[in-house]
Amino acid sequence: MSKIIASAAIRGAHKVYERAEKSFNQALKKYGPDKKVEFPNTGYFLPVIYAMTGIRVSTIGDMKQVLDRAKSLLPQIPDENVWLPYLGSALDAGMATLFSDEIIESLKYLEDKIPYTMTLSPTEDNIWLGAADDVIMRERGIEFVDGSAPGFAACVGVAPNNKTAVKIARELQEKSLYVFMSASSPDGRSMAEQLEEEGVQMGWETRLIPFGKDVTATVFALGFASRAAMSFGGVKPGDYRRNLLYNQNRVFAFVLALGEVDDEKYAQAAGAINYGFPVIADTDIPEILPTGICMYEHVVSNVKHDEMVERALEVRGLKIAITKIDIPVAYGPAFEGERVRREDCYLEMGGGKTHAFELLRKKEAKEVEDGKIEVIGQEIDDVEFGSRLPLGIMVNVAGSKMQEDFEPILERQIHNFINGAEGILHMGSRDVNWIRISKAAREKGFKLSNLGEIIRSKLLADYSAIVDKVQVAIYTDQAKVDELREGAREIYSHRDERVAGMTDESVDIFYSCTLCQSFAPNHICIISPERLGLCGAYNWLDGKAAFEIDPNGPNQPVEKGSTIDEFKGQWEGVNKVVFEKSNQALERFNAYSMMEDPMTSCGCFECIVALLPTCNGVMVVNREYPEMTPCGMKFSTLAGSVGGGVQMPGFMGVGKQYLVSKKFIQADGGFTRIVWMPKELKELMMDALKKRAEEIGSPDFVDKIADETIATTEEEVMEYMQKVEHPALEMDPML
Ligand code: SF4
Ligand code: ZN
Repeated sequence: MSKIIASAAIRGAHKVYERAEKSFNQALKKYGPDKKVEFPNTGYFLPVIYAMTGIRVSTIGDMKQVLDRAKSLLPQIPDENVWLPYLGSALDAGMATLFSDEIIESLKYLEDKIPYTMTLSPTEDNIWLGAADDVIMRERGIEFVDGSAPGFAACVGVAPNNKTAVKIARELQEKSLYVFMSASSPDGRSMAEQLEEEGVQMGWETRLIPFGKDVTATVFALGFASRAAMSFGGVKPGDYRRNLLYNQNRVFAFVLALGEVDDEKYAQAAGAINYGFPVIADTDIPEILPTGICMYEHVVSNVKHDEMVERALEVRGLKIAITKIDIPVAYGPAFEGERVRREDCYLEMGGGKTHAFELLRKKEAKEVEDGKIEVIGQEIDDVEFGSRLPLGIMVNVAGSKMQEDFEPILERQIHNFINGAEGILHMGSRDVNWIRISKAAREKGFKLSNLGEIIRSKLLADYSAIVDKVQVAIYTDQAKVDELREGAREIYSHRDERVAGMTDESVDIFYSCTLCQSFAPNHICIISPERLGLCGAYNWLDGKAAFEIDPNGPNQPVEKGSTIDEFKGQWEGVNKVVFEKSNQALERFNAYSMMEDPMTSCGCFECIVALLPTCNGVMVVNREYPEMTPCGMKFSTLAGSVGGGVQMPGFMGVGKQYLVSKKFIQADGGFTRIVWMPKELKELMMDALKKRAEEIGSPDFVDKIADETIATTEEEVMEYMQKVEHPALEMDPML
């Protein structure tokens, strides 16, 4: 351990601690000890402090004991000439720094003008987002779980110029890593501002997160890591050892120190090293070689900007499999959330503006010429900025294990595949698809034929078990598109009839899904034809296909076995699997009840259904709805109590489509129990809701469901129900 680093980290820790003490004293004087403090919308208090000490800081007064703890961790500032052989004192200094950071940062939320937007992406006048709330945490968590996001890079400071900042960000995005940005240079410049100046889209959607400009905002990255350990890893608050071990082993993160590293930045770096996150610096700072904490170097210095990302992955031992696709723009899941605004759009296709469709079909091997990609009609070079064209994407796939049943699953991937390209937006599917190609992508040389290359490369890479050959034709010729779209529509409706016609009674096998067990270890979804997975991403056919594609994967067939209760949806075979796969935590499931032995929820539900006792019915709230609901909780609070793989009678996470299934809480009264849902959800699902209402013989039922424009409390819902004579009023009591 270098004495220079140790003394710098210790000096820095003292400075940050003194700042925290000062902020605390000022706040105490101004607001008194009982004033509430928090990071908004989280159940983890000040997460690093909570994870490491178990202390639940919720008032200013609670901060005192934390400050004392930090102070006791602070080593004496060493004399420059004294050799410090151990890393220990610097690590303690690092931890004291993180505690102090959280105190400073949480007090910022009491200021008249909070320095953070608390939104998913920067706003017009502020780029700094501040701490991630629990909703973000859960949503992003699944990406860490399923490997679509291997980890994060905490970028501290500023790149030497904007171009380098963009290059580093793009490289990290291409590796699917989250990029957490904080701190600035002595002259007040920061990496996030560099990206902003270059027009790079930041926010949780693109994985480029500007946390805060202050050096203390670096703690948000470690707070994220600590919450990952507590919420996904089941680590108990206060169990600092397991928390740090979880992070060292499971969270692939590292620090990129950009520009001059002053004492306070050193102190943050020492905090990160506690978590096993190495520090890669572009400046000449003394290196630290492996000791007991990491298996690798703690600090690697003087790394050229071109090599920083590679070097970080190497040091952290992170292997990322990326599909190299031969296209002129960057590619990776981090680009999926990117928007292409109308003003930046070079070419637009579909989206209701022009006729469009996309279709994937299984063909015989001899009918498919692998790698053949044609554009029939105009290419992007043939049109001017701001143009529109019709679009037909026809993908022909062959493979000895390919089945017709897999067509819709592969076809649905086109959306993610295309969205992964930088500067290309894809929305919708089938004949309501919509593509925008940005001016920037066009300038880099992107062509329509590249859409075909993306689809082919990704199908071959991600579905190698079933796909051997891929041929793509892209049509922009109006007459051709119209003609082929007719044929495609026949195929779509044929597929719909197959799924829609299936009932739970018509099959002997359901499918299990345990994908979410990595963070909700006792959770299991049972997917039947009439009840899809609660994340909305897996229906029965998907489960079947996924099993055939990967027989050892998270989707396994479940024999229903003998029926225990047909009405509630309970079967012997299902119970057996539920018991085994829930680590014997659950004995039975009722697939059609939310009141008695309901299915568990992990955390990725599209909607939550919650009992409204006085209304004798249920409300539904979707993830996108941020406001208060009639049950007195917002989605984020509800999610906290429903998730985690436990049975919670009266509450249940569901996929949207289950709301209009004939089996929707059949045992509790079914569809007509719904008394409230957000307007946006209602509108989104209007056709399906109306169809279901007609099926049950009350075509005007949908109008009887209140929304936030009508009622926001349970009492108001009740009033409305009486006014419209909602059928739930006449039904058996739910409780
Ligand atoms: Fe997770 Fe269930 Fe979706 Fe599988 S089906 S990914 S277990 S929520
Ligand atoms: Zn889940």
